[in-house]
Amino acid sequence: MIKIYKGNILYTETSEKFTIVKNGYIAVEEGIIEGVYSQPPEKYKNILPEVDTKGLIIPGFNDVHVHAPQWVNAGMGFSLELLPWLEKYTFAVEGNYKDAEFARSSYSLTIEEMKKNGTTRASMFATSHSEGTKILIELLRKSGMGALVGKVNMDRNSIEGLMEDTLTSANETVELIEWMNSTKNNDNVDYIVTPRYVPCTTAELMKKLSEIVNKYNLPVQSHLDENKDEIKWVKELHPECRDFTSVYNDYGLMPKGQTVMAHCVHCSDDELIMLKEREVMIAHCPQSNANLSSGMMPLRKYMDAGLKIGLGSDVGGAHSLNMREHIVETIKTSKLYWTVFPEYKPVSFSEAFYLATKGGGSFFGKVGSFEKGYQFDALVIDDENLINEIPHNLEERLERFVYVGSHENIVKKYVAGKLI
Ligand SMILES: [Zn+2]
Repeated sequence: MIKIYKGNILYTETSEKFTIVKNGYIAVEEGIIEGVYSQPPEKYKNILPEVDTKGLIIPGFNDVHVHAPQWVNAGMGFSLELLPWLEKYTFAVEGNYKDAEFARSSYSLTIEEMKKNGTTRASMFATSHSEGTKILIELLRKSGMGALVGKVNMDRNSIEGLMEDTLTSANETVELIEWMNSTKNNDNVDYIVTPRYVPCTTAELMKKLSEIVNKYNLPVQSHLDENKDEIKWVKELHPECRDFTSVYNDYGLMPKGQTVMAHCVHCSDDELIMLKEREVMIAHCPQSNANLSSGMMPLRKYMDAGLKIGLGSDVGGAHSLNMREHIVETIKTSKLYWTVFPEYKPVSFSEAFYLATKGGGSFFGKVGSFEKGYQFDALVIDDENLINEIPHNLEERLERFVYVGSHENIVKKYVAGKLI
C-alpha cells in the first residue's frame, strides 16, 4: 500500500548540495521510497497524505558510534585524556550494568534521549555484560529505532567486574547472537561484533571473534587511532603488526564494507590506504575528540581520498546525543583545522548534513536519503517558531533548525516507514 508524505523535502543525494522539493510529495511503499514528486502522480491523486505539513521533511539522523551505557555519566572528567579517563569514568560506570535494574533504567534514558533528538539508527556499544546487553536489545526493539548493538569484548587491561575470561567472552557472544536470531521479530535491531579496542582484547580473543564474524557474516565496530598515548601502547602490545589498523586487519576484524572504526584522528597514509581497501566506515567524533584532547581528524583530507565517513556522537567522550550538535561540531572543527592547514577547506552545511544522514546511513543499508529504493527513515520538522520577518529559503530554514532549533521542532519520526 502506498503512503504519501507532503511537505518541504530536503535531503543530500550528494554531499555538495541539497536536493530540495518545495511542497513536494514522498511516495512510500512498504517502508521503501517509491519516489519524490513536486506534483502527485495521477495514480496517487486520491490518496490522503499521512503527513501534510508546511514544515520540513528530512532524513533521520544516523549515529555510527555511541556507548549506550555512558549517557548516565556523560559530561564528566574532561580534564583527563583518553586512557586515564577510561579508567576513572568509563570503566567505573560500566561496572554498574551487571545489575539488570540499573541497566534497564539507564539504557531507557539513553534511548529516550536519542529518539527525542531524531536519531533513527545507531551503531552501539553495550558493556561486557550479556544480560545487560539483552536488556538494551529488547528496549531498542520496543522503541522502534534501528540499531546495530554489540556486547563489548574485553579480556585484558580492564577492571574487576568488566574483565572477561577469553573463552567466556567468545562463548557469551555466540550465545547472544543465537538468542538474537531466535527472537528476531520484524525489527531493525541486529548484532555487531564489538571488541572494545586493541589494548583490551588479546590476540587469542581477536582470533575467536574473527571466527564468529565469518561464521555469522556480521559487521564489526571498534576504536582506532584516537589518542597518541593509545597508539604508542598498541605498538608496544603488537610489535608483530605494522600499525594499529593492521592489528585489526591481521586478526581478521575488518570485514570488507562491514566495519566501523571510531575516531581515526592520527592515521598514517599507509593506514588510510588499508581503510579504503577494506571499505571501512570512519566514525567522525569531533565533540569527543575535543573533550578528551585527542586532536582534530583531517576530515577534508579523508573526504578527498574517497573514504567512507559518518558521524558518531561517541557519548560519553561526548556530552550530547543530539546529532544536530555533532553536525555543528563537524563544521566548526573543520574551520579550525583550516586555520592551521589552509590547504584543507572547511566542510559546508550540506556536506556535514550528508555525513549525518546518507554518509553514516550507508552502514545500515539503503538509509539516509530519499532516493528511490531507500528505507523511509524520516523526521517531520515543524519550524514555525523559527520563522520571522526575515525571509528564509528552505535550506536556510533547515540550517536554522540545526543551529538554533530544539528537539521540540521534531514532531514525527519514522524508521523504515513505521512511525516511532
Ligand atoms: Zn567510543
